[in-house]
Amino acid sequence: MALHVMDEANRCLQCKVPQCQKGCPIHTNIPVAIRLLKENKLNEAGKMLFENNPLTTVCSLVCNHEKQCEGHCVLGRKGAPVHFSTIENYISTTFAEQMTAGPAPSNGMKVAIIGSGPAGLTIAIILQRYGYNVTIFEGKDKIGGVLRYGIPEFRLPKSVLDDIQYRHLELKGIKIRPNTLIGGAIGIEDLFRDGYKAIFVGTGVWKPNSLHIKGETFGNVHFGINYLNNPDSYRLGNRVIVIGAGNAAMDVARTAIRKGSHDLTCFSITKEVAASHYEFSYAQLEGVKFEYNKKPVEITDDGVYSGILLKMKTAALQILMELTLSIQQTVLLSQSVRDL
Ligand SMILES: Cc1cc2nc3c(=O)[nH]c(=O)nc-3n(C[C@H](O)[C@H](O)[C@H](O)COP(=O)(O)OP(=O)(O)OC[C@H]3O[C@@H](n4cnc5c(N)ncnc54)[C@H](O)[C@@H]3O)c2cc1C
Ligand code: SF4
Repeated sequence: MALHVMDEANRCLQCKVPQCQKGCPIHTNIPVAIRLLKENKLNEAGKMLFENNPLTTVCSLVCNHEKQCEGHCVLGRKGAPVHFSTIENYISTTFAEQMTAGPAPSNGMKVAIIGSGPAGLTIAIILQRYGYNVTIFEGKDKIGGVLRYGIPEFRLPKSVLDDIQYRHLELKGIKIRPNTLIGGAIGIEDLFRDGYKAIFVGTGVWKPNSLHIKGETFGNVHFGINYLNNPDSYRLGNRVIVIGAGNAAMDVARTAIRKGSHDLTCFSITKEVAASHYEFSYAQLEGVKFEYNKKPVEITDDGVYSGILLKMKTAALQILMELTLSIQQTVLLSQSVRDL
């Protein structure tokens, strides 16, 4: 691992105008992180990454690097880009082990964070640095939002989130109220009554979109986001269709394969997949099959009727031909969870 990390670091050209940094949505100073690593200043590099992005350990694993930093690296124009995700993961996980600093001096002001997904966690950690007295209210039993209840363990181990909870929340004095849905027993007005000066609402988007086709309510049909929430509560059987071919659909398909479904096909409505090349290639490697230009029109107890989509000028103007029934036990609707 270390050798590989240094090999990657040594390939970096230290560009004066780093395209990798431009491609990063939070402008991580990639050449400087790499330079510090090469100068054996691992702690400085780690500190810089965490100050810029409190979720650097998470982002090093699950950002869409091939579209962002690595997709913009100049070396990628003629060959392989510098794999900064590997470098970032090494620096941030190594440095994280050493983060034991206590809370910042209090400024006497309370803030409430509703929701502990990546948005809520980031805001909570940043506000704490300025001395705010932060309390997180989370409807579920554990922090993380989609990071814990959507992204599967094989892509983002739950231990990474547990570590964030310990080092960035508990050690820093951030309080957490799990199993507390704001809008239930406690409302926004109660928070203001109790002296919170500001409230950040980071509740995410959890409602699955439906396809609005016949059969969606049948017992063999499940929403992908619900499935990922707790795959072990489902008995999918061996033969499964996943409707959708984006990154979230890859998570659904790859999870179902790991849970024992062997005959699994993803339907893409276009002639290609929306998923990143990386996710798509892993899904293929693991045995997921793909069918293209497939427009589902009805779900039955036996599977999905779909047409081959010849043209799609608009959502309303679609030309279909050759309606076929694909016989499968279970249908997972995965177009209905959001992809970035
Ligand atoms: C399957 C899947 C895979 C994904 N993979 C990636 C990926 O690899 N890379 C990437 O960059 N993005 C990915 N995304 C997108 C990414 O997860 C989301 O953009 C991100 O989670 C949004 O963060 P958030 O904090 O706004 O919301 P969420 O992560 O949805 O968190 C919201 C939190 O608020 C809580 N909450 C809701 N209502 C209340 C309430 N009333 N009171 C208290 N708490 C409440 C919820 O329980 C939840 O914990 C993926 C999304 C899905 C669905
Ligand atoms: S674009 Fe690539 S080579 Fe240039 S600084 Fe960034 S990682 Fe290094």
